[in-house]
Amino acid sequence: MNQKIKEKSDYCLNCKIKPCANKGCPLNNDIPEFIKQIKEGNYERAYDILTNTTVLQAVCGRICPHKKQCQGVCVRGIKGDPVSIGDLEAFVGDYAIQNHLKIKKEEQKEFLDKKVAIVGGGPSGLTCAAFLAKKGIKVTIYERYDFLGGLLVYGIPEFRLSKDIVRDTIQKILDLGVEVKYHQKLGDNLKLEELIKQYDYIYLAFGANVPSKMGIEGENLEGVYGGNELLEFKNHPNYQGKTVLVNGGGNVAIDTARTIKRLGAKKVSIVYRRAKEQMPAEEKEVQDAEKEGIEILFQHNIVKINGNKKVENVELIQTKLVQKEGEKRLVPVNIEGSNYTLNTDYVVMALGSKPDEFVKELGLELTAKNYIKIDENYRTSNPKVFAGGDVVGTIGTVAWAARNGRNVAEEIIKIAK
Ligand code: SF4
Repeated sequence: MNQKIKEKSDYCLNCKIKPCANKGCPLNNDIPEFIKQIKEGNYERAYDILTNTTVLQAVCGRICPHKKQCQGVCVRGIKGDPVSIGDLEAFVGDYAIQNHLKIKKEEQKEFLDKKVAIVGGGPSGLTCAAFLAKKGIKVTIYERYDFLGGLLVYGIPEFRLSKDIVRDTIQKILDLGVEVKYHQKLGDNLKLEELIKQYDYIYLAFGANVPSKMGIEGENLEGVYGGNELLEFKNHPNYQGKTVLVNGGGNVAIDTARTIKRLGAKKVSIVYRRAKEQMPAEEKEVQDAEKEGIEILFQHNIVKINGNKKVENVELIQTKLVQKEGEKRLVPVNIEGSNYTLNTDYVVMALGSKPDEFVKELGLELTAKNYIKIDENYRTSNPKVFAGGDVVGTIGTVAWAARNGRNVAEEIIKIAK
């Protein structure tokens, strides 16, 4: 056995109460049990245990914010370092890829005539597809691009997640017999009414792809971009010799800043209105960004973007953090008089995203913020149609999107009997 993996798995206490699995992991992966199997050299069994709850082992093992999830509640972490759960999960995922292990099917006769359409081939749609296909349900994914993976492909840079790993992980899901139709865009050449006629159930998991804005002066100037839009469509300007300000504190902000630095920008700074410990981005990613020379202006806010047609500078203000009634987190409040101006060539808004306008035309009930409205079982206002992931405005991590997909599959399996 790989010595490092041996040391990492031996370090796990295989706790009976499993805080890592029950409290930390969004997918409730049976962490102590899969690690126990690694200790005993049963890698295939470790993979089977993980596939009970996830089909994205090699992906989540690499990109989940482990310190905020499973490793953050690991018993070993109370007095020292937590178990390297992410590395161990990635090891099992990689082993499965290298050794051509398959996701096991558990076909049941009563499901063989059921058909489900999934709109969107990102982590949520793929996970839903896998858990349905395992049971023998016929699944068709409608994908707007000519590749699957969604933000795993275009939203997470290669230096954090290799495209080969994504491709090989997805292949295992397709091997379950999932059909894919590419270049299918809802609101364009794909109609929800048609899917409702053809399928027993539909799962909408096409994400939210329009970058959110701050609503400040100057946001429409040339040189202001959305973080997702740069990563997804790769329509980067020429950064050679330029300074760039990225606004946001999540992984998209960090990934965008690191990508722009690699593309040759002279200086890249991140503006985040809260403190370092409140940053939603994974701690390791933040450290790596700082090591690469990206400056992070904590407790700063952008007030205004100045320029004549093009961005010339931004007005920044410092913030203090205060406790407000009814708010769980400390709230940033601008410090009056602390404004100053910083010259910059480009501003990137990496503040999350919202659904496309076409969701309004789907005939489904929406929330006040134009996300698709669902009940506690992920059902939309049409009982045949489910929705999950970013399009319903839930927590935007890959593992949570995958959990939504699995939950929807379990719900469909329950009602399709
Ligand atoms: S909490 Fe940590 S030590 Fe305990 S089972 Fe989970 S990974 Fe192992």
